[in-house]
Amino acid sequence: MSEYLEPRDVACPYCGETFTIVIDRSAGSQRYIEDCAVCCRPVLFDIEIDADGDIAGVAARRDDE
Ligand SMILES: [Zn+2]
Repeated sequence: MSEYLEPRDVACPYCGETFTIVIDRSAGSQRYIEDCAVCCRPVLFDIEIDADGDIAGVAARRDDE
């Protein structure tokens, strides 16, 4: 696995279950939709990468809000 790829556990905003996403820190701040691994509903992720390439924030929201 690349040194820029970092797994994070997140809580699904729909079902509350925890699943793991892999964040590409080399890509900078990003927003994308990934289906929950448990309930398969679309989760909107807001990933914040700081100037050092570290993960500054991970937000998981429902796509229908
Ligand atoms: Zn879910």
